[in-house]
Amino acid sequence: MSVQLDSYLQGSWKRGDSAPRSLINPATEREVATIKSMSSSLADALHHGRETGGASLRRLSFAERGELLDKMAKVLHEAREELIDLAIQNGGNTRKDAKFDIDGGISVLAHYAYLAKSLGERPWIVEDEPSAVYRGAKIRAEHILVPRHGLAIHINAFNFPAWGMLGKAAVALLAGMPVLCKPATSTAWLAHRIFEILLDAECVPDGAFQLLMGSAGDLLDHVGPQDVIAFTGSQGVGTTIKTHPAVIAAGTRVNLEADSLNAAVIGPDVESGTELFDLVIRDLVVEITQKAGQKCTATRRVLVPEAALESVREVLLDRLGELAGQTGDPSDKSVRMGPLTSKAQLDDARAGITKLLASAEIIHGDPARTTGFVGVEDGTGYFLEPIVLEAKPDAVLDPEASFHRHEVFAPVTTLLPYDGELASAAKIIGLGKGSLVSTVYTDDREWLAGAVAEIGPWLGRLVVANEKFANASMSPGCVFPVANHGGPGRAGGGEELGGVHGMGLYMQRVAIQGGASQIARLL
Ligand code: NAP
Repeated sequence: MSVQLDSYLQGSWKRGDSAPRSLINPATEREVATIKSMSSSLADALHHGRETGGASLRRLSFAERGELLDKMAKVLHEAREELIDLAIQNGGNTRKDAKFDIDGGISVLAHYAYLAKSLGERPWIVEDEPSAVYRGAKIRAEHILVPRHGLAIHINAFNFPAWGMLGKAAVALLAGMPVLCKPATSTAWLAHRIFEILLDAECVPDGAFQLLMGSAGDLLDHVGPQDVIAFTGSQGVGTTIKTHPAVIAAGTRVNLEADSLNAAVIGPDVESGTELFDLVIRDLVVEITQKAGQKCTATRRVLVPEAALESVREVLLDRLGELAGQTGDPSDKSVRMGPLTSKAQLDDARAGITKLLASAEIIHGDPARTTGFVGVEDGTGYFLEPIVLEAKPDAVLDPEASFHRHEVFAPVTTLLPYDGELASAAKIIGLGKGSLVSTVYTDDREWLAGAVAEIGPWLGRLVVANEKFANASMSPGCVFPVANHGGPGRAGGGEELGGVHGMGLYMQRVAIQGGASQIARLL
């Protein structure tokens, strides 16, 4: 039975009045829910969030807001099994994928709830020590962060309906900003149910958390100078938002999390038979198959020293081969990789692979395959088996090569043979024009230090992996709330999470300047 998903704005559920859009189970192609977008103006909803929600949140201390987050984490944890089931039905997630999304979201809430305890009782965060404005002066300057008096507008991508929504909301609510969340339509059922559960449990004050289903309508026309837009999605839509006339006119703060051509860099010293080599393969298999490769942090380019190409190719393809027969309807427990989340995604992925073929050739998988998937009739569902390509040798350092320009948001990666030199690795990483994360696998400390300096500027996060920590290492797609999430250039230039640092997005940095004893008393 299909459910109708309504928006929650200005303190009540509101049904849209546009033509219904279907949300589909991507394994069975059956409709699971519908959404009607709002055609009426959203100006009042923005006003309600700022005035009612903002005022209520700012009356609470950081510790009290942390208690809200703690309650949110607990009620969602209790509803976990129901939420996992929705993610399987609407997102095409395996149970493991669903947990990755849902538990990830709950863990961000729990982390920021914990962090709240250390933020003190004042309505601001003191960032640094007072500094004399010039040597010998009695006047000091010191920086604080105060909550902005606007609305945090969260526009999320389809791939993480739970983590995307909760990860952004946790940080904004703790900072003291009310939230209006617009999930991506195709997978919005999970976000909708999460919101319903939080509302029923009366977790947040009126106006502090609103939900907009369907299209963004005239949302952006009404943004103001104290508002913040945090967007996750494609580079194209991100640019539309950033350059919206009302956003420019009001100087609204915008954080973009967009496409990314993340890389795995295998150092020249990594030899087959070592734990580090096994880790490389383990990470690659996870990054290709988890959430069917629909992760902003998934590894799209694998830099393989020419000397190691044969062994990497052989072991990787072997491991992926073991997964054949385990792709299918994720409601079947034997399935390890589900479908892509929509027909549009599958069409996009196939078109993207065709683009990659200009500079690379397929060495594993068949993008056109529509048969043999577990639990579904042949031809049903939006399935794509893992696809591995290998770059044409003269394309690796070519700035125009398609694997440096196109993110295929699917279980697709390309092996790029390189000469093992740090300078080449850095150049190749840079050709991606900015990424969320990359991993460097090496035991050579000097090579690693060089990589941090040369590759670091292109990344939001750099995972370093060596033989000693190979067992404990986490694949780069795991985003932890303590670490920065975001990346320069193509990745949008945004910064989220990273502990207290992430709260800066929702707060205004103010330099307080005055007499030394006055500043000391005040702050
Ligand atoms: P998308 O098509 O750009 O959509 C993202 C969100 O923007 C959706 O909620 C969408 O709503 C909304 N939207 C579309 N047009 C809009 C407009 N004119 N004004 C305001 N909002 C608008 O991206 P997607 O297909 O959901 O996600 C895939 C992309 O997201 C990939 O490129 C991936 O790299 C990126 N991504 C990045 C990160 C990161 O952290 N960097 C994380 C996840 C995904 P509707 O769904 O209603 O159209």
